[in-house]
Amino acid sequence: MIMNKQIASFLNSFESQLKVMSPGRINFIGEHTDYNNGFVLPAAIDKKITFSFRKSVSKTQCTILSTTYQKLFTFSIDKISIREATWENYIVGVVAEMQKIISGIGAFDCIIDSDLPLGSGVSSSAALECGIAYGLNALFKLNLSTLQMIEISQRAEHEYVGTKCGIMDQYAVMKSKEGAVLLLDCLINKHSYIEASFDPYVIVLLNTNVSHNLASSEYNTRREECEFVVNTIRKDSNNVSSLRDVTFLQLQQYKDQLSKNHYERAAYVLEENERVLAAVECLKTGNLKQFGSLMYASHRGLQYQYDVSCPELDFLVDFSETNKEILGSRMMGGGFGGCTINLIHKNAVDDFVKEASKAYKEKFGIALTSFVTVPSQGTSMYS
Ligand code: ADP
Ligand code: MG
Repeated sequence: MIMNKQIASFLNSFESQLKVMSPGRINFIGEHTDYNNGFVLPAAIDKKITFSFRKSVSKTQCTILSTTYQKLFTFSIDKISIREATWENYIVGVVAEMQKIISGIGAFDCIIDSDLPLGSGVSSSAALECGIAYGLNALFKLNLSTLQMIEISQRAEHEYVGTKCGIMDQYAVMKSKEGAVLLLDCLINKHSYIEASFDPYVIVLLNTNVSHNLASSEYNTRREECEFVVNTIRKDSNNVSSLRDVTFLQLQQYKDQLSKNHYERAAYVLEENERVLAAVECLKTGNLKQFGSLMYASHRGLQYQYDVSCPELDFLVDFSETNKEILGSRMMGGGFGGCTINLIHKNAVDDFVKEASKAYKEKFGIALTSFVTVPSQGTSMYS
C-alpha cells in the first residue's frame, strides 16, 4: 500500500496511551422497531474497529487517522463544525455532543483501524461513534455513564451526519456481552441479557454488497409514516405517544382513516414487536426452529408491509428458505442492501455459501461475501 509522508510520520511518532475496541452488531429480530419505542434483539459481533488514543502534544489540535481510508485529518478541539467528509463527522460529532454536556476534553490524537465491513448493516458507524466516546471518556476521566455515551453517539449521527437513527446500534455496540443476546426495550432504554446457545447452528452473514441509494431517504420516510399513524390516533387518545402504545384493535379501528401504506407500516411494527418477545421465549426454551420461523416472518413483513427490502436481499432469503439445514434468514439493518442474517447448521455452512454465491453471481453478476460470527463483547479497553 502506498502511504503518504504525512501518514507515515504520524504513525511512526505515535505512542498509544489507551486502546479501545468497538464492535459491529447483528440484530436477530426487531427491525425498524427501535425508533418506534419497541423491542430489538441485537448482539455485538467479533469484528470491530480498534482505536489507539493519546493526548495531543498540541494544546488544541487533534489529528485523526483512519487506516481503512488511509486518510488523516486535523481539527481544533475548541472550534468544531460540520465537515465535508462524512466519516470525519462521526468523530467530530461525538466530540461536539460530548462538549455540550461536559467540560475537560483536551486535544487528542487517534488511529482508527478496522476489520468491519462498511455500510453493510453491521453498524460500523455506531462502532466508530461509540469507540470515540468511550476512548475520550477514559482518556480525560470524564465519568460519563454508558447510557450518556450511547446517547451522545446517537445524537452525533443525528446532528452531524443527518441519519435519524434509533438507539439500537449504539446501545448494542456499547452494552453487549460475550455469549449473550440483548433484549432492549427502546421505550425505557433498559435491557436484559439472554445467554444464548445456537449450537449446532451458527450465525452466518451474507453480504449482498449492494447499497441502494434509497436507504437513507426511505429510512426517514418510514419514520414519518409511523409518526403520521401515531398522530392520527393521538387526535382521539392523548395517551398514545408512539406505536408502542397502539394496540392491534386500535389500529384496526383507524384502518379507514389511513392509507394502505400507513396501515401496513404500523401493522408491521406491532407484529414485529410481538415477534421479538416470542423469539425471546424461543431462546429461553431452546426452540430454535420456531426462532428461525420468526426470522422468516420478520423478513416477509419487511419485504411486503414495511417495504424496505430489495431484490438481492429477497433472493438470498428465498434461497435459504428452500434449504432444510437453515432455520431462519432475514434482511438486517435499515434495508435496501447490506447483509442477511442466517441460522445455519454448522455442517452445512460451507456448501450453502458456495451454492448461494454461485446462484447470486448468476442472478445479479455480483460477488457475495460472507462470514460466520458469534455474540461478542461490546466496546471496551484492551492492551
Ligand atoms: P453501517 O453503519 O451499516 O456500516 P453507515 O453508512 O451507517 O453503515 O456507516 C458507514 C460509515 O461509517 C462509512 O461510510 C464511514 O463514513 C464511517 N466509517 C465506518 N468505519 C470507518 C473507518 N474504519 N474509518 C473511517 N470511517 C468509517
Ligand atoms: Mg450505520
